[in-house]
Amino acid sequence: MGNLDSVRARVAAACAAAGRQPEEVTLVVVTKYFPASDVRLLHRAGVRHVAENRHQEAVAKREMCSDLDLSWHFVGQLQSNKAAAVGAWADVVQSVDRERLVTGLGRAAQRRSRPLEVLLQVSLDPPAEVGAGSGTSRGGVSLDQVGALAAAIAATEHLVLRGVMGVAPPGGDPAEAFARLATVLDSVRAEQPSARWLSAGMSGDLEAAIGCGATHVRVGTAILGNRPTPG
Ligand SMILES: *Cc1c(COP(=O)(O)O)cnc(C)c1O
Repeated sequence: MGNLDSVRARVAAACAAAGRQPEEVTLVVVTKYFPASDVRLLHRAGVRHVAENRHQEAVAKREMCSDLDLSWHFVGQLQSNKAAAVGAWADVVQSVDRERLVTGLGRAAQRRSRPLEVLLQVSLDPPAEVGAGSGTSRGGVSLDQVGALAAAIAATEHLVLRGVMGVAPPGGDPAEAFARLATVLDSVRAEQPSARWLSAGMSGDLEAAIGCGATHVRVGTAILGNRPTPG
C-alpha cells in the first residue's frame, strides 16, 4: 500500500502548510468499483473510513467485510426510492442534496441502533449550471436551498447533521470553490451546532481542501489507481 503512504504524507504536508494537525483530517478511501479484498488490505493498513457510490455494490462489499470495524460512507447520487435502503447500511451519507431524501433516510435511521450521520452536499458549480439539465453528475443543493435543507435534516429524528460536502468543478480553482464551501459550513453551523465536518478534496485537490479547513478528504485514484470499468 505504497500509495496509501504517499497520500498520508500529502495530507501531513498540507496540514503542516496550513498550520493544522494531521489528526484533524480524516482520510476516507473511496473504494467504489474495487473489490472487497482491497477494502481488507486497506483496513489492515489502518484505514477506518471507506466510501462507496452505488447501493448494490456497497451492500455486497459491506457484507463481505462485516468482521471489520469500518465506517461506511455513501458519496453517490442518491435516488429518492433508494434513500431508505442506503440509510439501512451506511454509517454516513455524504450526498444529501434535497428534501425528498430526508424522509427515507429518517425512516431507515429509525430502525437502527444508532443515529445516521449525514452531510449536506452543496453544489459548487457556477450558478448558471446548477440543476437545469446541465448534464453535471456532481449533484448538490444550490446555495439558496441550503438553510431549508439543513433545517429539514435537523428536524428529523435519528438523523444527525454533521456538516457539508462538495466537489470542486473541473477546470476551476479548487481553493476558491472550497473556500465557498467553508463559508457555507459556517452559515449552517450558526443554526445547527452539530454541523462541523467539511468533506472536501479528492485525489487531485486534497491540498487545496485542507488549506480551506477540510476535516474529511475522499481519495480514490491516488491510493487504489484507476478504477476498473464498472460492471
Ligand atoms: C469517486 C469520488 C471521489 C474520489 O475521487 P478520486 O479522484 O478517485 O480521488 C471522491 N468524492 C466523490 C463524491 C466521488 O464520487
